[in-house]
Amino acid sequence: MGVRKKSSGLSARASATEPSAGECIEARNLIKSFGEPPVNVLKSVSLKIGRGEFVSIIGRSGSGKSTLLYMLSGLDTPSSGEILIEGKNINALSRTEFNYLRNRTIGFVFQFHYLLPELTLLENALMPARKYGDHRTREPYAKELLAAFGLGDKFGRYPSQVSGGESQRAAVARALVMEPRYLFADEPTGNLDTVNGDIVMELFQKINRDFGAAVIMVTHDPDFAEMARRKIHIVDGALAD
Ligand code: ADP
Ligand code: MG
Repeated sequence: MGVRKKSSGLSARASATEPSAGECIEARNLIKSFGEPPVNVLKSVSLKIGRGEFVSIIGRSGSGKSTLLYMLSGLDTPSSGEILIEGKNINALSRTEFNYLRNRTIGFVFQFHYLLPELTLLENALMPARKYGDHRTREPYAKELLAAFGLGDKFGRYPSQVSGGESQRAAVARALVMEPRYLFADEPTGNLDTVNGDIVMELFQKINRDFGAAVIMVTHDPDFAEMARRKIHIVDGALAD
């Protein structure tokens, strides 16, 4: 597959310029606590991720990687601190405004594909479009994505009729169907064998390179982490150098 070697030389090239507020997702002093008494799982994290970046997030199990990803992508809310999506403070938005912004701006891929079993791959890929009635206009694009991901002859298959790797690729198509500028992925290859893991990583590189989307990926795989142009290391809920 060759992916692993191809871009490992890029890892040292950190982004030199600070992105402007309108062109990044920014976290300011994010704290997330759970439990009673509260335990801080994220301890005042501040960072910016610009359009077009390729970032890997690494750290031990339990260090707060998923929590950080959920905050940055608006899947969960911080206990304190702020998140700005392209200059918009999400605390200042209504739920309706926020949901719409998220739908247009952010895609998310989980370790498990979470496709709906009663829907075909095409219907699953179109789920984010269905939310705002865009599924007809988005259908050609969904097909294009699935075809580009090697699923051109499987639009009508159900998740139970394809492999785990194919399901994950359909989940990536679903995450991309609204053409998000930021694609988050939480251990997207964690459930895949090496071959399928490499295929999904190639997709992410393609998405970043050809579609220009920022990719922000949590991974345990050191080779995959090296593919990113920036590595964010989390230790015990804080950013480490
Ligand atoms: P990682 O993804 O780096 O493995 P997580 O972000 O999932 O770590 O979790 C960080 C810490 O927060 C862990 O100690 C975990 O047990 C705790 N945690 C995460 N989610 C919850 C929750 N919903 N309730 C209580 N504790 C949680
Ligand atoms: Mg995790």
